[in-house]
Amino acid sequence: MNHPYHQHPKPDYNRAFAAGVALNLIFITVEAVYGVLASSLALITDAGHNLGDVMGLLLAWGATYLATKRPTLRRTYGYSRLTILASVTSGLLLLLAVTIIAWEAVNRFLEPVTPAGHTIMVVAGIGVIINAFTAWFFVSGKDHDLNIRGAYLHMTADAAVSLGVVISGLMIWQFGLNWLDPLSSLLIAAVIFWSTWGLLRDSLNLAIDGVPRDLDPTLVREWLAQQPGVEDLHDLHIWPMSTTKTALTVHLLMPVPPVDDEFLHKLTQQLHEQFGISHATIQLERGQVDRVCTQSKNCAD
Ligand SMILES: [Zn+2]
Ligand SMILES: [Zn+2]
Repeated sequence: MNHPYHQHPKPDYNRAFAAGVALNLIFITVEAVYGVLASSLALITDAGHNLGDVMGLLLAWGATYLATKRPTLRRTYGYSRLTILASVTSGLLLLLAVTIIAWEAVNRFLEPVTPAGHTIMVVAGIGVIINAFTAWFFVSGKDHDLNIRGAYLHMTADAAVSLGVVISGLMIWQFGLNWLDPLSSLLIAAVIFWSTWGLLRDSLNLAIDGVPRDLDPTLVREWLAQQPGVEDLHDLHIWPMSTTKTALTVHLLMPVPPVDDEFLHKLTQQLHEQFGISHATIQLERGQVDRVCTQSKNCAD
């Protein structure tokens, strides 16, 4: 575990992501159209869920692309912060969708409609196959890479959700249990809410310059304080530049400052390797005047 906070794009899985996006987009269209034709809220809800998945995949891809764009004179951090904005927007859209779906499901309990059970079975059955197929793409990497394992588990769970909809379609078709449709829809909406809530909370935290969740600021502070020659430190700030890139500034009190840049080079390199902080700015102070520099009071004053 040399790079616990690192997230590099995995070129080997580009094919899996491309296949995932393409298959899902086609299936979402089929699901939405037949959801309306068969009066099945469960199918429409699952289409919303799959759309959320595709947005997640596209966000991950977009982040990789934006990270390659060079900063400009006026946008000195480049464009990668757009990924945070995109995460917030996608989270808010999904929450809105969940609210509308829950409202509609409650209405359908009060005023039941008759969904076409056999259509639900066929369409949800396709969903089982697509999700199982996509999960299969990730099988080889699931034991070695946390991100791939996450994708694998998600696709497996989605296949299980679709299987649940197939069974509810069968019950509706054979036994006329029409209430199963809004019920499955509510269950899927709950799953969307649960996953979106975490995403939205994390991305809002990033939007207000909070420390990324997988990074422990106490560990960073302790590690910095342990560096040779460092007596004290203050004004430690850690904030995200994008959903995957983190920046840091800190003032280090070093009564005997290093004679060359070796110390700073090593420090920034290790901040990157150990904590995934790729953009560190370090200010060294001798401490002749006590606590000269705070953000409110400049050294020069
Ligand atoms: Zn999903
Ligand atoms: Zn200072």
